[in-house]
Amino acid sequence: PRALLIVGAGQAGVETAVAARQNGFAGTITLIGDEPVLPYERPPLSKGMLMGESGLDEATIYSAAELDALKIELLNGIQVSGVDRKARRVSLSDGRQLSYDMLVLATGARARELSVTGSDETSLFYLRNLRHAKSLGEALRKATQVAVIGGGFIGLEIASAARKLGKHVTVIEAAARLMGRLLPEEAAGYMQELAVANGVALELGHTTAAVSREGVMLDDGRMVAADCIVVGIGAVPNDALAREAGLAVAERGGILVNPIGRTSDPAIYAVGDVAVHRDEISGREHRLESWQNANLTARSTGMAIAGAADHSIDLPWFWSDLFGGTVQMLGQMRDGLTLVRRDGGQAPVFFGLNEEGSIELVVDFGQPKAIQAARSLMLEGTELSPALLTDRDVDLSQLNED
Ligand code: FAD
Repeated sequence: PRALLIVGAGQAGVETAVAARQNGFAGTITLIGDEPVLPYERPPLSKGMLMGESGLDEATIYSAAELDALKIELLNGIQVSGVDRKARRVSLSDGRQLSYDMLVLATGARARELSVTGSDETSLFYLRNLRHAKSLGEALRKATQVAVIGGGFIGLEIASAARKLGKHVTVIEAAARLMGRLLPEEAAGYMQELAVANGVALELGHTTAAVSREGVMLDDGRMVAADCIVVGIGAVPNDALAREAGLAVAERGGILVNPIGRTSDPAIYAVGDVAVHRDEISGREHRLESWQNANLTARSTGMAIAGAADHSIDLPWFWSDLFGGTVQMLGQMRDGLTLVRRDGGQAPVFFGLNEEGSIELVVDFGQPKAIQAARSLMLEGTELSPALLTDRDVDLSQLNED
């Protein structure tokens, strides 16, 4: 029987193992992860778990008994330190070596570290794993003034949780607006209004010059007083094993893969946050960091390993729980989209129309029906006018039937 080894026992790693097994892979499956717990989902880390409302059990994806029943062996608390492609062998931190016929790199990403004056001496909080969530949760409860460096989704979810706990919160963002990387300007503007309405102080267009026990010093010399400093300035893909093994990697980090997740070595795949896909038509490279992407890439790679084809198509989807509501995004942000804002209901919906006049992106602040309606319009590539989309009398769910 053939041996499948999976490095990284996070969401994408475990789902690849399960997809391979459930689609008929009959060999051995070994999942190796450096965290000392069962595979868990990360979204709750910045939501319920931070507030102390939910625990590891709710975030755990499969129980030990479920993994056993699928004959998936989990080696946890063990790091993979090297890959020998010629011998098809990996080395483990405990000195062992394991052979593979097929290898999957599901090593995810890590929090990008802040490097400014004082960052080595000051205790800074990050949020990527369970350990971080525990220490940040404790620190937030004790704090009175919280400074969050970074105005992306993670930074804002932390800000949102800290406000719920009644703390003074300042978000410091180098760009002129929040969510620069992910949301179109108009939707980010709405996000900003929400943050301010929920009592978050914003310092936009400011970088951090220094950090200390007193707080954060901005580039203009002003001090944001804080007894808890959290850094959420993005994630860096864990691609060191791939680089050292000579696999093709993207210039901006991450492992280059084809549509089924195969790397430049046909015996090695990469899935989840660490994988970089190249769009066949535009040539654009993208690396997604989302729950859905972890599942989709795991499924198609797991199926490919089992010799099955994945014909399902889906659109990139992301959600975030912020300030008492849920933001959902379907599709991907890119330059050149025409933004249309549809009002009505409790919160606006933003559509991004492409050059052909069909929807390529939807950002919705609490109307899941709009997302549902847009999904089919997007999959069918229906051409729509901005006037039609903004007309509150038009029922979006009726449009694709015309
Ligand atoms: P990970 O889940 O990071 O798993 C990788 C695992 O590999 C880790 O356990 C790591 O320790 C291990 N590893 C790395 N190197 C080695 C090695 N050499 N040897 C052994 N093990 C190794 N997405 C959404 O869509 N919506 C959300 O609301 C949302 N919220 C989030 C909140 C937080 C705080 C975080 C951190 C992420 C959030 N995400 C969200 C993103 C989503 O959780 C990730 O996209 C997903 O976890 C990616 O899965 P992965 O398996 O690729 O990586």
